[in-house]
Amino acid sequence: MALIVHKYGGTSMGSTERIRNVAKRVAKWARAGHQIVVVPSAMSGETNRLLGLAKELAPAKPDTTYSRELDMLASTGEQASSALLAIALQSEGQPSVSYAGWQVAIKTNDAFTKARIQSIDDEKVMADLNAGKVVIITGFQGVDDNGNITTLGRGGSDTSAVAVAAALKADECLIYTDVDGVYTTDPRVVPEARRLHTVSFEEMLEMASLGSKVLQIRSVEFAGKYKVPMRVLSSFTPWDIDITEEAASGTLITFEEDEQMEQAVVSGIAFNRDEAKISVVGVPDKPGIAYQILGAVADANIEVDVIIQNLSKDGKTDFSFTVHRNDYSKTIDLLKEKVLPALGAAEVLGDAKICKVSIVGIGMRSHVGVASKMFRSLSEEGINIQMISTSEIKTSVVIDEKYMELAVRALHKAFDLDQA
Ligand code: ADP
Ligand code: ASP
Ligand code: MG
Repeated sequence: MALIVHKYGGTSMGSTERIRNVAKRVAKWARAGHQIVVVPSAMSGETNRLLGLAKELAPAKPDTTYSRELDMLASTGEQASSALLAIALQSEGQPSVSYAGWQVAIKTNDAFTKARIQSIDDEKVMADLNAGKVVIITGFQGVDDNGNITTLGRGGSDTSAVAVAAALKADECLIYTDVDGVYTTDPRVVPEARRLHTVSFEEMLEMASLGSKVLQIRSVEFAGKYKVPMRVLSSFTPWDIDITEEAASGTLITFEEDEQMEQAVVSGIAFNRDEAKISVVGVPDKPGIAYQILGAVADANIEVDVIIQNLSKDGKTDFSFTVHRNDYSKTIDLLKEKVLPALGAAEVLGDAKICKVSIVGIGMRSHVGVASKMFRSLSEEGINIQMISTSEIKTSVVIDEKYMELAVRALHKAFDLDQA
């Protein structure tokens, strides 16, 4: 007997028929003698629908009273899907109970719309499991110290599932989704993408942080911190497939490098359209400039990603960086109003139509020439590189958004990722 956490994403919970299928699959696992906790997402489209209603009434604004209500609102999507799943399980003859995050309780900080889990109380859940029930816990949400409902950021149900698995010391966390594992890149963009049987935790962390939305990055961080065995697999196989076969399907996230079966130099390609580029041009080249620009940005709680400073000419330099697209106009306004006058810089330029494409692989540590192969392949396609950033196991480039798919496909081929 094992304690296993199943997570089902929005598409997997997308209709009553699909919820019935999830219930049948979960009941199969419970009948096999396992203790099962299920963490569902809201039915597909529901979170967007709810947040859209809020926007109709008042445009998004970064104030706490507004974002508190967004969390109050968006959390209902998961409450509905969880109750529906409990009803479906009960109708399959499987005792089951659903809890909202605050009922468990999943305690978080009070950063509405992007809260972080601080602790999870396992008492109630363990008592129900020991009484033979399947326990359903809403994904995406928790409660702060003042009893306010919080949410964990888009895609946050992955993180709920892994955090619950860590708290319950589960034997495994199975992330059921609408693809049958983690691929060399998004299979919706490159049809030749291949499923990876295993992917190292470090690579998964990079891929998630660089834009592969198959797993929310915080779920991978949790899995790494608490060594939660984690597998990504399909919820679209027939529910009654052999359980041993199902348990070995999909992609396993591994923690030991020698567990890694596929020792490719580059394991995957990630991309991200969520960033925008900002350049402060004609900045006097003297100590403290980076701090004056980026300090002001950080003080406004805006995260900066890729940064470059050009060589100086005539005592002046250009300073460019990327921010999330949602923070684009806020950052430009801030620089124009507060930073430019103090700096004596010439102007602020911006480009929101960029994207970041990254190659990821632990094999890059021991191979030279990987980045140059990337640059060559992009140049052969006539794609201009605007910014570059590297770390031990990844190289990212910022390019014009309109070349994103071309770049991803070209790199996928150049690194032989379509070859088994
Ligand atoms: P869920 O609703 O189950 O959480 P998501 O839509 O959040 O599902 O994540 C699954 C999607 O992630 C897939 O449909 C796929 O388009 C996308 N994706 C992006 N990169 C990858 C990748 N490397 N491997 C697999 N899927 C990926
Ligand atoms: N329902 C939430 C979202 O759409 C959380 C999730 O699906 O993981 O972002
Ligand atoms: Mg998701």
